[in-house]
Amino acid sequence: TEFVSANDLASLMDISVNEVIKVCMQLGMFVSINQRLDAEAITIIADEFGYDVDFITSEDEQALEDITEENEEDLEERAPIVTIMGHVDHGKTSLLDYIRNANVTAGEAGGITQHIGAYKVQTESGRTITFLDTPGHEAFTAMRARGAKVTDVVIIVIAADDSVMPQTKEAINHAQAAGSPIIIALNKIDKPGANPDKVREELAQMNILVEEWGGKYQSQEVSAKTGAGIPDLLEKVLLEAELLELKANPDRAAVGTVIEASLDKGRGYVATMLVQTGTLHIGDIVLAGSHYGRVKAMTNHLGKKMKEAGPSTPVQLLGLDGAPQAGDKFLVMESEREAREIASNRSQVQREQSLRTRKHITLDEIGRRL
Ligand code: GDP
Ligand code: MG
Repeated sequence: TEFVSANDLASLMDISVNEVIKVCMQLGMFVSINQRLDAEAITIIADEFGYDVDFITSEDEQALEDITEENEEDLEERAPIVTIMGHVDHGKTSLLDYIRNANVTAGEAGGITQHIGAYKVQTESGRTITFLDTPGHEAFTAMRARGAKVTDVVIIVIAADDSVMPQTKEAINHAQAAGSPIIIALNKIDKPGANPDKVREELAQMNILVEEWGGKYQSQEVSAKTGAGIPDLLEKVLLEAELLELKANPDRAAVGTVIEASLDKGRGYVATMLVQTGTLHIGDIVLAGSHYGRVKAMTNHLGKKMKEAGPSTPVQLLGLDGAPQAGDKFLVMESEREAREIASNRSQVQREQSLRTRKHITLDEIGRRL
């Protein structure tokens, strides 16, 4: 593969291209200004000018591109991935808890709920929905900032006994910026003071017109306390998902996103991974951000052991050599050696970047004191 032109390389090193061409000639390489150079030539030339070259492999970007290039006939429907956002105390956690407890997948009853950052449930109509169990838009924006597009549908929770609040507006803005369809959940409908029409009115004033009022936004009155309206809310999520025609190929190497990761005293590094396409298996070699490892064990949010995880399935995974960051992409690779090399290259780049940032901060501080 050829990377950059002689001209590009010269400007990367802040050296005139004529100088680069001259040195190339001395080395017996005849290059023209716009000639693209291969990795070997780049390394040799850069070395002459005292530069080390890091070739950052964009293996994961490539893999994600492959998804879009997949054959239509390999694709199967996948469950929608949902994030719940809204103002503090409007009921995000309560709603997530209610849905988690009321919609246990068949055959999993009796499991002890673990907070792993995501879970998958079965609706009354027998279909599945995946929830990111990291309420608040911090997680959502942190992921987006890292380039991760994980959420298919956003539920905006608004307490019907309260109003559209600053964080409600922020959440709506975030969802719109991400291009995610929005469903409005008017919560706490069980409360005597609930006035959902007042909230609908406030939404209308900010151009969010709900369906009942002739607009395009689905909304549903719910109670995270009694469970009223929640099955309908889930059906509306599925309706929204149908329009999106969400698909993935379960018969390929897994690709997805890290939801959260940490070091567990007893078990080592534990990471919650959301498989977005393909199927993840025990024994697979996973590259996740600047870490890698062989999948030793996988469990779901009920602590149930899993041998494999297909598209839209979150799993807690053991076996990585460190904790990748939330929003890092992961993918399964053929070669453990290659995974290790890419992981170590990335760690190196990260270390250098943090060094550079430190230097930068120091300079700034001096500047301010002067
Ligand atoms: P969050 O900050 O958005 O996660 O909100 P929480 O889920 O922590 O809820 C805030 C408070 O509202 C808690 O005391 C909940 O018990 C209460 N709450 C949440 N949903 C409902 C509901 O539907 N009805 C009633 N009556 N209380 C609710
Ligand atoms: Mg909460």
